[in-house]
Amino acid sequence: MKTGQIHVQTENIFPIIKKFLYSDHEIFLRELVSNAVDASQKMKVLSKTGEFKGEVGELKVEVILDKEAKTLTIRDRGIGMTDEEIDKYINQIAFSGAEEFVKQYEGKDGAESIIGHFGLGFYSAFMVAEKVQIRTLARHEGAQAVQWESNGSPEFTITEIEKEDRGTDIILYINEESVEFLEKSRIQGILDKYCKFLPIPVFFGNKTDYIDSPEGEKDDKGNVKRVAVEVPNQVNNVSPAWTKAPVDLKDEDYKSFYRELYPMTFEEPLFHIHLNVDYPFNLTGILYFPKIKENVEVQRNKINLYSNQVFITDSVAEIVPEFLTLLHGVIDSPDIPLNVSRSYLQSDGNVKKISTHITKKVADKLAEMYKKDRADFEAKWPDLKIFVEYGTLSDEKFAEKAKGFTLLKSTENKYSTLEEYKEQVKALQTDKDGKTVFLYTNDPENQFRFVKAAKDRGYDVLELDGPLVPHWISKMEQEIENISFARVDADTLDKLIKKTDEIPSKLSKEEEESLKPVFEAAVTKDKFRVEFESMSESDAPIIITQPEFIRRMMEQQKMGGGGFYGAFPEMYSLVVNSNHPKVGALVQLTDEGARSEKVKQLADLALLAQGLLKGEALNQFIERSIELV
Ligand code: ADP
Repeated sequence: MKTGQIHVQTENIFPIIKKFLYSDHEIFLRELVSNAVDASQKMKVLSKTGEFKGEVGELKVEVILDKEAKTLTIRDRGIGMTDEEIDKYINQIAFSGAEEFVKQYEGKDGAESIIGHFGLGFYSAFMVAEKVQIRTLARHEGAQAVQWESNGSPEFTITEIEKEDRGTDIILYINEESVEFLEKSRIQGILDKYCKFLPIPVFFGNKTDYIDSPEGEKDDKGNVKRVAVEVPNQVNNVSPAWTKAPVDLKDEDYKSFYRELYPMTFEEPLFHIHLNVDYPFNLTGILYFPKIKENVEVQRNKINLYSNQVFITDSVAEIVPEFLTLLHGVIDSPDIPLNVSRSYLQSDGNVKKISTHITKKVADKLAEMYKKDRADFEAKWPDLKIFVEYGTLSDEKFAEKAKGFTLLKSTENKYSTLEEYKEQVKALQTDKDGKTVFLYTNDPENQFRFVKAAKDRGYDVLELDGPLVPHWISKMEQEIENISFARVDADTLDKLIKKTDEIPSKLSKEEEESLKPVFEAAVTKDKFRVEFESMSESDAPIIITQPEFIRRMMEQQKMGGGGFYGAFPEMYSLVVNSNHPKVGALVQLTDEGARSEKVKQLADLALLAQGLLKGEALNQFIERSIELV
């Protein structure tokens, strides 16, 4: 037996490890299982290159729980370690990492899961164990098996032992505070989280499986009976879809992998993007496009980040731009410094490149889908829309590409790109200043009258709704030359698209002035501004509008960003059509009471058309209307 001191200049590394990793104790299992997987894969390599000539045997990792002995063992059939290797890799190397770790992070908060990065993975065992043993037999012919043991102080012992199988057992004697790790379900949960796609089979206990009766026993109906058998419980799928070549995968394979990733999600993804980069960094993965619809908030944090098939985190905000966190799926990159702090990640050059790359890939995929099958793209658009808007608003490069495939949907259910649409409506909807006005509604049902009035003039009306639309519209107006958007109820049609030819008014200035107070009396004065406008006779007698600018500002405030909160009171215009015969008739009317009544009725009808007639006012209107019948 040999005893020694683990090389560590900085005393008491363990309290520091414990302190920093307190919130994340469970990762010890990830670290130890991935060490076991690494050792097994090295074995494969040695055999392939001919350096190892013996029998490799079945390479697998076993996690063994012994509740009575209070131990958790991680067993592999990997390359094992000689006592020199233990000295080098466990006693010395690990702690040079530890020193670096301590230097960088001493006294800092939030340095989560830094351990692996500094080659401290193995020592994370001491977060949950009062004693750790390594029992290992190295791959070399005639190697002597050894046992290393430490109770977490820098002292250790090395003893020669008997061990038949090549490979390593790491035995943790779980400490008092960590008894949770003696629960089968807890361990199963951790393995499911971190080890689901490791490249070497990982087993944990047994599970019940049902098979045809081996004796051929039959039930009453004459069918072969199914019987329960205990089979080894394999935790992982060693070759998940993202590690395969896209040519080897069918659409169905991608879908079934989606279900494997999210067993609790029943919706199918819209489409996927298979990422495969090897220069200037390594990255593979599959991103799925979920059906998002209007739900910008609910579906986040569904991208899982892996490093060589080891799960690292599902919080990828630092690696992908925010709008991409709407996507689901897997990114696997050994080049992302996974175990360092978040602020470090944000400034890492590779991470920035990855983010740019993914954004580009997603934009390219959408462009390709648009080009390949426009009808299909149009069918998917309702789900893509909010994502594309989000991307357009948050990433300039994406915005540039998205212009080519962003679709506008008309109230006639026709889709066109921005440029196509501009061409289509240019002739009729360009105002005297040369601006082409895109009319839109965000609620065809409630704005029916406005939409119809516009269509009656031969104008086209778009359907634009969703939480990002107000911001998106403003961006498009800056991006695309000579266009502007206006909601159909933002003003009278003549003002929404101002043409040169003005219709003369049938009312004199004096007549308008005399009518104005009557209209003002019919509505809440501080909310409505009464104006006269000479429209065509066939237009409505009164229209209530809400200026595009003010409304858009209020909507943008609601969604957050770009707001002057509280600066805009609710404000409408009550526009009287001075050419409408009913309005003309009001001037002739001498009975003031009758006049007020008629004005009230007209004003209420206009309010009703805008959905603004409510409560007591609506009730009065109904009663008055009944009287009229
Ligand atoms: P890292 O894995 O980041 O190098 P660790 O502290 O986890 O740091 O492990 C240190 C070294 O100990 C490993 O690089 C490896 O050489 C050796 N090692 C750890 N576990 C095993 C194992 N199960 N089999 C063989 N070697 C191992």
